Amino acid sequence: MEMHHDVTPERILEAVERSHSTLDKSGFCIRCGFEADGVEPDARCYECESCGELAVYGAEELLLGLI
Ligand SMILES: [Zn+2]
Repeated sequence: MEMHHDVTPERILEAVERSHSTLDKSGFCIRCGFEADGVEPDARCYECESCGELAVYGAEELLLGLI
């Protein structure tokens, strides 16, 4: 999986931690780096609001890909 350089492990971890402590669910577009709200943790290939690519993944899904 080729990741946009703005989608760093730190941002992914922060988003996962936030989803555990609040009801926020976020994900990232791996094409443009956009952080999307209301994305299920296991989302894959959702449409990006910013660039229109089917490249939004849930934060937990991305975290799994990092390990
Ligand atoms: Zn995008």
